[in-house]
Amino acid sequence: MRIGIIGTGVAGSVLAEMLADTPGLTIDAFDRMTEHDAGEAGTGLNVGPNAMKALRLHLPARHDAVRAAALPWRRWFIDTAAGERLFDLDLLDVAEEPGIRLRWSELYRVLRAPVAPLTRLGLALEALEEDAAGRLVPVLRDATDALHRFGGFDLLVAGDGRYSRLRALTAGVPEPIFHGVAMSRLLVPDAQDCPYDDYGQWFEGRARLLSYRLPGGAAYIAGAVPLETPTAEIDARIRGADFQASLYLPKDRAPCPAVAWMSRKLGEHAGALHWARLQSSPLSRSAAGGRVLLLGDAAHAMVPTLGQGATQAIEDGVLAGAVLRAGGDAAAVAALRDPRVEFVRAFSLEASDTMLPGGDPVAGSRAKMAPDFLTKLRRTYTDVPGPEAFA
Ligand SMILES: Cc1cc2nc3c(=O)[nH]c(=O)nc-3n(C[C@H](O)[C@H](O)[C@H](O)COP(=O)(O)OP(=O)(O)OC[C@H]3O[C@@H](n4cnc5c(N)ncnc54)[C@H](O)[C@@H]3O)c2cc1C
Repeated sequence: MRIGIIGTGVAGSVLAEMLADTPGLTIDAFDRMTEHDAGEAGTGLNVGPNAMKALRLHLPARHDAVRAAALPWRRWFIDTAAGERLFDLDLLDVAEEPGIRLRWSELYRVLRAPVAPLTRLGLALEALEEDAAGRLVPVLRDATDALHRFGGFDLLVAGDGRYSRLRALTAGVPEPIFHGVAMSRLLVPDAQDCPYDDYGQWFEGRARLLSYRLPGGAAYIAGAVPLETPTAEIDARIRGADFQASLYLPKDRAPCPAVAWMSRKLGEHAGALHWARLQSSPLSRSAAGGRVLLLGDAAHAMVPTLGQGATQAIEDGVLAGAVLRAGGDAAAVAALRDPRVEFVRAFSLEASDTMLPGGDPVAGSRAKMAPDFLTKLRRTYTDVPGPEAFA
């Protein structure tokens, strides 16, 4: 069986490593990035304990390599911008091992390394054709606009992310769902004077800062700004230095040291912020009569509130790999993964209540210490089958 993987980001790389050297399977992977691209290198990522569990159980060498490139994500606290503590959690109370915090580019580097021999870089999926046997033939464009074909595949896997070309060609472009929040991201490379370490969130009204330190003395700051309407654009005023320097400061009290530090950095580097709107898209797992399997953001872009986007992309890659290795098909992957992904997507949206219209950041954050929320968090962080489930 010949399997082609379009996109070696998170899900595609992990799947390729799971399937490499499997008797009876031939794997070819393609990515539009070149060796020298450093897209998204600037930002940070927190990856949940459930992704680490999936790697530990199925790809232990990758687990260790990822952990070596990261700092542990052991704690999650939520404060008001004035420093009143609302929520404080040791992740080991609800997980089997800590999550991680690392640079996006480091995660890509560590996941891509073992599948480099299987991957052709600098090729972007453009179109699809069919060979005489009814197998899908991807048509890929290189940087000089030349088109390349590498024959037919029994299964094509969409690992090409949120704006998946393979999904667009076979299942249509998904309608994004916007939630009325603008998200900013900033990497502070030299953060030696940063007055905190592990993962924290700070609320001023429904505006929220999220931040943590990264390996190499850097810190990552993510802002969430309520928009007037769900589909409003992020205008120049919101992106401006004055707005960014003051938005998260308490109106009637002094800010805590963390919020004062982050507000200063956001004002100084307002022009360097990356912006996106909080959005998700409907789940789609397979297309073209089961000849296309969708994984990660191509299948189920979700709100990043619980840091489950790349986390679920890793679970997808690992567990789809286990299913395919055991002789399963796209329908078998859907049967295993879709209920789990629907649960995590719904829970991620539920956990966003404090940022959404009508939400109460103080009461909503305190409620996250209640058993109902912690039970769902434990399920999110631990409900990952090991290799024995696929024997
Ligand atoms: C603001 C923001 C913050 C986030 N924070 C977190 C977080 O803290 N924790 C977390 O777990 N997740 C987070 N996420 C989500 C996370 O980044 C994604 O869920 C994750 O990267 C998805 O992995 P993927 O493998 O599906 O796609 P990607 O990582 O996007 O990889 C797609 C790959 O496909 C390639 N590609 C794309 N198009 C083509 C084409 N036409 N042909 C060939 N190759 C192609 C790309 O070059 C890339 O290598 C965040 C997302 C956003 C927007």
